[in-house]
This record gives sequence, structure tokens and C-alpha cells, in this order.
Amino acid sequence: MPAVSLSEGRIYRLAFPPSIKKDSWYLGVVCKTCKKPIYCLDDFSNGNPTQIIGQGKLSIPCQKCDDDSIYEASDVRSFQAAYSAKSFKDLRPKATGGKRTPLLPKYRKAKVTFGIGALEQRPEAALGIAKCIAYWTYVESANARLLASLMGANTETAVAVYLSFKNTVTKNDAMQAAAELQLSTDDMLLFRALMAYKNSVEKERNALAHGIFGVSNSIKDGIIWAHPTTQTNHQAMVEVCGVTDQLTAKLYQSCFVYLTGDLETLALEIEDLERQISSFVGYLSANAQFRATRYPQLCAEPRVAKEIQTIIKKDAPAKQQ
Ligand SMILES: [Zn+2]
Repeated sequence: MPAVSLSEGRIYRLAFPPSIKKDSWYLGVVCKTCKKPIYCLDDFSNGNPTQIIGQGKLSIPCQKCDDDSIYEASDVRSFQAAYSAKSFKDLRPKATGGKRTPLLPKYRKAKVTFGIGALEQRPEAALGIAKCIAYWTYVESANARLLASLMGANTETAVAVYLSFKNTVTKNDAMQAAAELQLSTDDMLLFRALMAYKNSVEKERNALAHGIFGVSNSIKDGIIWAHPTTQTNHQAMVEVCGVTDQLTAKLYQSCFVYLTGDLETLALEIEDLERQISSFVGYLSANAQFRATRYPQLCAEPRVAKEIQTIIKKDAPAKQQ
């Protein structure tokens, strides 16, 4: 039976419950006040779960009576759910798996209006945009912890140094320099894959964050994006010449459409990226035995595996010279 050990002196917070499906299995505890089960984590083993061991504690609020107590690892049990219950995860739109698409030619009949008020008219898209912007902070936090780990430095100092860098290039250079000093060849490959993954997602996230938004009646399940410079130039020209077909066509040429599901796809990528970087930080501080089994798992994560393949291909000609 696999086991997860809770480190002594640490308290692990389990406050975001999964979606509960009647008769499915969950790891949880019995509430200290109302004595009802609190389902905390999915138990995909159907009753033969990962064993929770160690001296660390769990901090778990009860959704039924609002008790908020501390539990021991030995309090965790596997439960078959007696009822179904929705969680925040059920509020999420379905991810399309795709990226933003140019407005033209696909939406050539769309008439677009930019301005304050666009986000309120597309609240689901607004939530998607907010998630991509706000959850990026968790990626930055994971990256700062990674720099701390690479520098073997006092975490507070390393985090302050990382956050003081004003742009991505400086941050990347600092990470790269620390990694080159610290990591083995294998770990360096994984590090480079993670940073390539980060750079690719960061580009998407920044484009979204720095855009200006509009709506169209013919695109109800999404929001229209333009670069602020393009839209400002358009507005300035309209003030001089009035609205012309030519000006509108020029603006529309540079617009993109984010469907709500595209925004969810990006939000999920940001979450996955944060998880991968955090896992790498954990891996770096683990013992050799754990690292040996964990390394292939981290490399096999789909996006990481893709970046590793690209790096290997890119490095191949250099090695042959
Ligand atoms: Zn309770």
C-alpha cells in the first residue's frame, strides 16, 4: 500500500473539498464536533487508499457544522460517500483545450464593442481572466521557492531577491545561473523543461493580462481581445476621421476571441505549471531513494515530457559537432 508521510512539526491544510459523488471513495476524517465524515481527498483506489503516516498534523474545516480542527495522520480513513455534493470545481466551465483564435475570418459577421462594461457582460469570461491573472502569482511563488532551493539560501532572502527582479528575463537569468551551479545533468534537463513550459504559459498569460476587452452579440460564450496600442490608435483615428469601414477592418484584423473554455484551458495550464514547479522543489530536497523513483514521474508529466523532447532535439546537433 503506498504511503504519504506528513513531516513532523508541519500542519497541512485541507480546506478545498473535492466534488462528492455518492458511493465513490474519499479520504477523510470524522468531524470532532458533528461526528459526520468530512470527505477531503479523492480516493481513486476505491477503498485501498494511499496510507497517511507521520507526525505532521492536518487542519480540516467541516463543511456541515463549520468546526475547524486539527487531526492526526492516524485519524484519516477511507469513506464511501453517502451523498453527492458539488464543490467549486463544478463551477468551472469545460476547457476547450484550445487557445485564443483570431477574430477574422472565423467571426467575420461579428460587430465588436470595446469599453468598460465588457467584462460585466461576460461574467464567466471575466472570472476566467481573473483566474489566469491571479493564479499566476502561485507560479511566481513556486519559482521563488525554487530559486531559494537552488541557492540553498534562507528562503525569505531568496524570495525577496526573486521578487525584486522587475522583468522575466532577469528572473530567468538568475534561475538559470543558480541551476547551472547546483544541478546534475539530469536535473538540469528537467529544470530547463520546466522553465520552457513556464515561458510558454507566461507568454499566453501576459498577452491576456495586458489586453483590452470587448463584446459581440454574435459571440455569447467568449470575449474579444485587442492589444491596447491597437485599440488606442484606432480610437485616436476615429476621433479624427470618424468611424470608417477601413478603420474597423484594420482593428478587427488584430483582434482575438477567447472562448470561456479557452480561458479555462489557460487557467488549468497555470495550475498544472505551479504543481510541476512545486513538485520539483519537493524533489530537490528529498533523499536519493525518493528522487530515483520521482525523477521519471516528473519527466513523464505530459507538458514536461514535450519540452524535454524539444530540448533533446535542439541539443542534438550541438553534441554532434
Ligand atoms: Zn462537523
